[in-house]
Amino acid sequence: MSKAGQKETPDRMERIVNLAKRRGLVFQSSEIYGGLNSCWDYGPVGVELRRNVKEAWWREMVWSRGDIVGIDCSILMHPRVWEASGHVAGFTDPMVDCKKCKSRFRADHAELLEKHAESCDGELTEARQFNLMFRTYMGPVEESANEVFLRPETAQGMFVNFGNVLDTQRRKLPFGIAQQGKSFRNEITPGNFLFRTREFEQMEMEYFVRPGEESQWYEYWKKERFDWYIRLGIKPENLRLREHESDELAHYAKGCADVEYQFPFGWSELEGIASRTDFDLKQHSEFSGKDLSYFDEESRERFAPYVIEPAAGADRATLAFLVDAYDEDEVEGETRVVLRLHPRLAPVKVAVLPLLRKNGQPEKAQEIFAHLRPHMVAQYDQAGSIGRRYRRQDEIGTPFAITIDHDTMENGTVTLRDRDETSQERVHESDLLSELLRRTAGS
Ligand code: ATP
Repeated sequence: MSKAGQKETPDRMERIVNLAKRRGLVFQSSEIYGGLNSCWDYGPVGVELRRNVKEAWWREMVWSRGDIVGIDCSILMHPRVWEASGHVAGFTDPMVDCKKCKSRFRADHAELLEKHAESCDGELTEARQFNLMFRTYMGPVEESANEVFLRPETAQGMFVNFGNVLDTQRRKLPFGIAQQGKSFRNEITPGNFLFRTREFEQMEMEYFVRPGEESQWYEYWKKERFDWYIRLGIKPENLRLREHESDELAHYAKGCADVEYQFPFGWSELEGIASRTDFDLKQHSEFSGKDLSYFDEESRERFAPYVIEPAAGADRATLAFLVDAYDEDEVEGETRVVLRLHPRLAPVKVAVLPLLRKNGQPEKAQEIFAHLRPHMVAQYDQAGSIGRRYRRQDEIGTPFAITIDHDTMENGTVTLRDRDETSQERVHESDLLSELLRRTAGS
């Protein structure tokens, strides 16, 4: 019986972090030097998982549609970009210090205030606004004229390239521009593993529409983005859409909703979908002096398109898929840890295991391994009992394992084991590749 539906124990998150380290998904950054706060490195298994998350997003948002194109902008942008976007003046969080214990944290998170009050009765300072942008200098002279920022979001790359995309791609409204890449925020209180870090990856898309059509597209994107997580295996009871209250909205925004996931530490934002009006394009037109309007052939009118923006985080999404997939059940009287990842997201698609280390079985298994490798991420393992080898694969979410045994040598069939059911069937080696491709959805 799966324990996934049962009451969350407080240490679930800890067990996931431990598994991530033990199986090469995520390590602490610079661990041999004691680590660097809130920075993480993806290991050989984790890097595949996050790549798969990003690719699933790109496939959905770019490849499978005719109306969205991708771009990839530099992390350093002209400093004026951040003046136009409002980040220099307003990308701040309120910060308080405790006069007694000297701890410093965000003043707008009730749970942080409560946590502090539990351990310390010290008085807090007035909240001060702290700008979250990382600063650095271009070139060898460290003076303010050379100051640049590491981008705090990828979205501005789409706005400043709006004209370039229009000129080169001959797009008609509605159309979108998508980007994935690193962003940096000097968060006051990072934490919860991959959830809130100072360096992270975003997956954002700006969808440009005719003014007046924004409500319909806002509804459309909320549904699309919510369904994406469900299609990739997130349990519906752990996902919800939360519409922002009007006092939470930016002054230019017509609407904003968060896709939230029920993490062990509570419901938290995975992705925001915002209806941003023509604010960004108009700001950049004004600050750059370049016209970023669109000429509509149908109405013979020139205007700045409105924008709907679904903005997701690759690391947060990876964490949500990991948490949701983590399960413990009982197999042959023993507790097993299993990641029930969607096959498309699974870091390794198939494990190739010779039952015995003799009778030609390792050679046959190597031959099959070499046959599968160009088509999918596969692993070969001949160390330890077959049960132990299955467990290792279950822990990294490998959906299929094939075993080469005595019968393989006789009739060319192998056993194909399913991770979730732990059931086995025999498949002929000549059907193996197409069967695996079919079951892992071409991934
Ligand atoms: P939060 O309220 O959690 O600080 P936000 O509303 O500022 O997030 P956005 O600016 O809407 O976040 O960014 C879009 C997405 O980028 C978020 O939904 C999240 O998935 C991701 N993201 C933002 N900040 C971080 C961070 N510090 N670490 C990891 N991912 C982040």
